[in-house]
Amino acid sequence: MVNAVEISGGGAALVGGTDASSLAVIVRGAKKYYHMGSEVVKALDGIDLEIKRGEYVSIMGPSGSGKTTLFNVVGGLTKPTDGQVFIDKTDISRLGPADLAWLRCRKIGYIFQTFNLIPIMTALQNVTLPMIFAGLDRGAREEKGMELLKLVGLENRARHKPTELSGGQQQRVAIARSFANDPAIVLADEPTGNLDLKTGMEIIKLMVDMNKAKGVTIMCNTHDLKIINASDRIVWVRDGRVSRIETKDDINIKVGEMTDRSGVAAENL
Ligand code: ADP
Ligand code: MG
Repeated sequence: MVNAVEISGGGAALVGGTDASSLAVIVRGAKKYYHMGSEVVKALDGIDLEIKRGEYVSIMGPSGSGKTTLFNVVGGLTKPTDGQVFIDKTDISRLGPADLAWLRCRKIGYIFQTFNLIPIMTALQNVTLPMIFAGLDRGAREEKGMELLKLVGLENRARHKPTELSGGQQQRVAIARSFANDPAIVLADEPTGNLDLKTGMEIIKLMVDMNKAKGVTIMCNTHDLKIINASDRIVWVRDGRVSRIETKDDINIKVGEMTDRSGVAAENL
């Protein structure tokens, strides 16, 4: 369906020396300006970012640095003031409302800080809801929904409503829901922000496990340093710009240095 605005016919275009077909997300010069009276708030001020298929990328930065705006722009929830976003080679800024809705439903999974489950629906109904929009019949939905709930360790909570679940369990349901339509990318905005330390660690581990098990690309906003070990890369954002990008090797060296200096085990960071 969504094929009119691909980055190139054969998908062989080189982006910064990388074959575009190996990239799940490309952000080029993305700006998002808000006009507040006479003031211009530059929530994003020229973001360039590429995320490879299967990669787990953390977006780190202080409060107000633009992480949620980036989540919204990459997820097709907000149009950038300027610049382009490609998801799976499709330039989403050029999609009409119907194609954009299709892409959001089929290609992107969303995880929010506040879980955003529908309160009157059970865990299973929440997980299967996006499958209705994707056209799956009831039998297939329930089977797949139960499989996903099992993957997040909640098969025995399928009939529970969100108020009958703990915060960590609600976020597990939200993670299962984000995988409902086998997305190309899962976007998470501060998924551990409303959880205690231990539960937050469990949620991060679950997201890493899902990333490995399903090979899905993950972009996760956080200012939680616990996530440092989980990421393939960390993109540091400041004042709406990328201030630096660290790879897993940089991160390991740093974690090693910290471990050497303080004796703190890397997995405790
Ligand atoms: P973060 O998620 O890193 O805390 P945000 O993306 O929420 O940062 O916000 C980045 C900047 O943009 C902040 O200065 C914020 O006040 C501003 N901002 C975000 N959304 C809006 C909006 N809808 N209208 C005006 N300003 C906004
Ligand atoms: Mg935010």
